[in-house]
Amino acid sequence: ITVNGLLPNETRSTCCYCGVGCGVLIQTDGEQVVGVRGDPDHPANFGRLCTKGSTLHLTASPTLQSQARALHPEMRLARGDARERQSWDTTLDYLTHKFAATIRQHGPDSVAFYLSGQLLTEDYYVFNKLAKGLIGTNNVDTNSRLCMSSAVSGYKQTLGADAPPACYEDIDQAQVIFIVGSNTAYAHPIIYRRIEDARKNNPDLKIIVADPRRTDTAREADLFLPILPGTDVALFNGMLHICLWEDLIDPAFIDAHTEGYAELKATVRDYTPKFVAQTCSINESDLVQAARWFGSSPASLSMYCQGLNQSSSGTAKNAALINLHLATHQIGKPGAGPFSLTGQPNAMGGREVGGLATMLSAHRDLDNPTHRAEIAALWGVDEIPAKPGKSAVEMFEAVRAGEIKLLWIVCTNPAQSMPEQTLIREALSKAELVIVQEAYRTTATCDYADVLLPATTWSEKEGTVTNSERRITRVLPAVAKPAEARHDWEIAIDFARRLEVLMGKTKTLFSYTGTESIWNEHRESTRDRDLDITGLSYAILEKQGPQQWPFPQGASVGKARLYEDGIFPTASGKARFVNTVFKPVADRVDARFPFHLTTGRLRDQWHGMSRTGTVAQLFSHASEPGLVMSQIDADRRMLKQGDLVHVTSKHGSQILPLLIGDDMRAGQTFIGMHWGEEYVSGRGHEGEGTHGVNALMSPAFDPSSKQPELKHAAIKVLKAELP
Ligand code: SF4
Repeated sequence: ITVNGLLPNETRSTCCYCGVGCGVLIQTDGEQVVGVRGDPDHPANFGRLCTKGSTLHLTASPTLQSQARALHPEMRLARGDARERQSWDTTLDYLTHKFAATIRQHGPDSVAFYLSGQLLTEDYYVFNKLAKGLIGTNNVDTNSRLCMSSAVSGYKQTLGADAPPACYEDIDQAQVIFIVGSNTAYAHPIIYRRIEDARKNNPDLKIIVADPRRTDTAREADLFLPILPGTDVALFNGMLHICLWEDLIDPAFIDAHTEGYAELKATVRDYTPKFVAQTCSINESDLVQAARWFGSSPASLSMYCQGLNQSSSGTAKNAALINLHLATHQIGKPGAGPFSLTGQPNAMGGREVGGLATMLSAHRDLDNPTHRAEIAALWGVDEIPAKPGKSAVEMFEAVRAGEIKLLWIVCTNPAQSMPEQTLIREALSKAELVIVQEAYRTTATCDYADVLLPATTWSEKEGTVTNSERRITRVLPAVAKPAEARHDWEIAIDFARRLEVLMGKTKTLFSYTGTESIWNEHRESTRDRDLDITGLSYAILEKQGPQQWPFPQGASVGKARLYEDGIFPTASGKARFVNTVFKPVADRVDARFPFHLTTGRLRDQWHGMSRTGTVAQLFSHASEPGLVMSQIDADRRMLKQGDLVHVTSKHGSQILPLLIGDDMRAGQTFIGMHWGEEYVSGRGHEGEGTHGVNALMSPAFDPSSKQPELKHAAIKVLKAELP
């Protein structure tokens, strides 16, 4: 017997892995999670789940919980000591005194918070207010900096707001789907199934994939463009050049709804098919075919992810693709538009509340005095500091330099995920105090924690998340908090209130009674902004189900698709062409480092595996990491499948087994991004680059988005000489 589609032991929630944001129904037996099924009523997945989502309940087993979970606060007073269990009162009192003294002595910018796209919107909101409103520092950044910040700056520079204009329904209505820098079949599997359905329902649908690697997504494409890593801007400018020549642009739309076209037109004149085919190392005829399909189709939808974002020219890549959409008027109509696929489950929610060092709530800009004043008024503080905070890489550099003394890391694992691990681990060792707020005590970053704060996680938390198509879903807890673990927002508020007392504040900024009151304040911050959700409430989300923003007061549904009226949220109301110029990758291949290395997700693992690594069946697809290389390159180096090879870049080294695959072209290699030091030390090669694949990557970052180039490094590969 079901009530509102739920069995008696089921609770509505979402999957905590990728940004598709699938709805799940969590099944419990008392306080134990015993099963999970896809929510048939959730518009992101209509009941479907991928291998990761359908095994979520296994990550909540009692054995794993007791082995891997952080369940009590722990502290150590001296480096090298073991952490000891403490009460929450002792721990938070110690932290508040430490923060107050450090801020008094060194100023507010001597402390920093590093957050996560796994947090719920309410968690994110409170930590931002704690740093920017109470402490007075903008040193709040997030692992979303490693994930989507180039998409943010690409949207803002061209369309005027960080708002993905398309939605999942557009997949069903597109005539051309252009997938770039995304192995959608692995990274966003439920979206990929929708693409497969669209192909079954529409035999005329054309799928173009541009990717350095012949991924499972690329294998199913009608046209595959195996571009060299980092050449995306040349590709998009080249496609625009062809569209211009073949009269596939829309001059009326350009005249009425855009600005800056003349400069871009002059630039793309140089991106001839011959030049672009050579630069990208693809066939000229394939390039022309891609441009013709894209430009002449009644509805072209592009879907993209880290191949564009994780790049030292990530903003230009995003902007160049959006330029192509604007010039051909493939935006603001069913089945068309640029559509960034969000990596993490709530990177969108973090962006909404301004969870980056240069942003403020509701897509406001820190460098805009009016925006700062609006948020100061909403929060009841004198001012928001104008000085930008440190972005992810800059933050760890400042910690290493002694400029930032106290670092509070929430729900993320920089000791594995950040580039240039030597720098990151040195920073973590040098910090005066590292606080790690985590559900799992097993991450590499926990080794550096002077203070470990146990947090709740999936199936225990309450709040909201927003998925890739701007859809907000209410998340409900299915089981109680384990042992002494607390919700992330609760920890932040308890700390903040204690700090307020030490700072002599007579009135608290954090008088919340629960997640709903936090969310209501966030909702108020969106009034009259592009993401206005003043017409929404927890009650509506629970009664009517997940809703897309904007959803202003008086609306009965959210907006599925943006810019259908041709009006963009810029000062002039017109979209802006950005004059994008191709720049090569930061780490160039040369005689010493002759191979391109790219990285990416594997089908059944998630990020640094702190959760998926606990489920045995998720290793049946790939049981260990490896360096994937073409047969041609392996033969040239007299290497064979399974040989251990020493992989070295300018930034780090690793020993890995060799995997020979037909997905790589000669000169190119690939490593799955998930494994960290556990794997390598397990093989007895400790000391040989034990920090995961990102240890090989360059810390170079995009000047506008500050997103590091985690997708590419130049490497050399030698057979490992083991004792
Ligand atoms: Fe979870 Fe993403 Fe799989 Fe959906 S597609 S079940 S959100 S991992």
